[in-house]
Amino acid sequence: MNASPAAVPARADLHTHTALCKHASGLPHEYLAAAQSAGLAYLGVSDHFPAPAGYDAEFRMAPSDLPRYFEILRSLREEAAGGPVQILAAAEFDYVPGRMDEVFDALAPVRSEFDYLLGSVHYVGDFAFDDPGKLDEWPRFGVDAVWDVYLNDLDAFVGLGGFNVLAHSDLPKKFGFRPTDYESAVRRISEIYRKAAAKGICLELNTAGLRVPADEIYPALPLLRAAFEAGMQITLGSDAHKPEHVAYAFDRAAALARSVGWTTHTAFVKGEPVALPL
Ligand SMILES: [Zn+2]
Ligand SMILES: [Zn+2]
Repeated sequence: MNASPAAVPARADLHTHTALCKHASGLPHEYLAAAQSAGLAYLGVSDHFPAPAGYDAEFRMAPSDLPRYFEILRSLREEAAGGPVQILAAAEFDYVPGRMDEVFDALAPVRSEFDYLLGSVHYVGDFAFDDPGKLDEWPRFGVDAVWDVYLNDLDAFVGLGGFNVLAHSDLPKKFGFRPTDYESAVRRISEIYRKAAAKGICLELNTAGLRVPADEIYPALPLLRAAFEAGMQITLGSDAHKPEHVAYAFDRAAALARSVGWTTHTAFVKGEPVALPL
């Protein structure tokens, strides 16, 4: 008898990008091939949604690119048909204070095209705090002020809802800047997680944090514990901006999630949650 390799759970990567966002590389079929070799059951394509008009235009597709995006998703789905990986259509959209009506208006006519949506905060005011090109702007705001505004916005975003997955929820730690009073930040985020849990919003374990100076999955362990206690379900996301990052460090993320207490993670098919083993 040959020793058979340990079974790899068929997981879902719900956070990946395409070159349409202007800061990702690789062809869609290369992401699919990476998903196949990682043994994934689902590959969620979740590129940056182009709304409101003109917002963050350098780092996302233009509204006029949306038909092309849906075309990419359709042909990827065709290519994947009959294979082990199911393609999920998604988008990552942002909280933009004062302009959420425009965002939801832009989403409404295409919402039925998506299996699920990721909700993210990438800006504090006009400051793209996660942009490595803007590192020298941190002193203009100050670390605690960035976190303070970020958490207010995250709270407001969860209050509005309209998305299935709360993405990289402690993103301002990306370059290693953590709030001075970490305990009180954890308490504030725990409160946000309780609101999210009540709305059925999942928490994303995002492994991109392991590829940046924070050197830690988003969100940090104390926050994972708070989310578990709040009753949130989780998703796994690599935040791949190139094919080789698909399913990045998922064994490590799954082990972390299991150590906190989760036994499953979630995929969304046409908005319906599907529980998968970790
Ligand atoms: Zn991106
Ligand atoms: Zn993001």
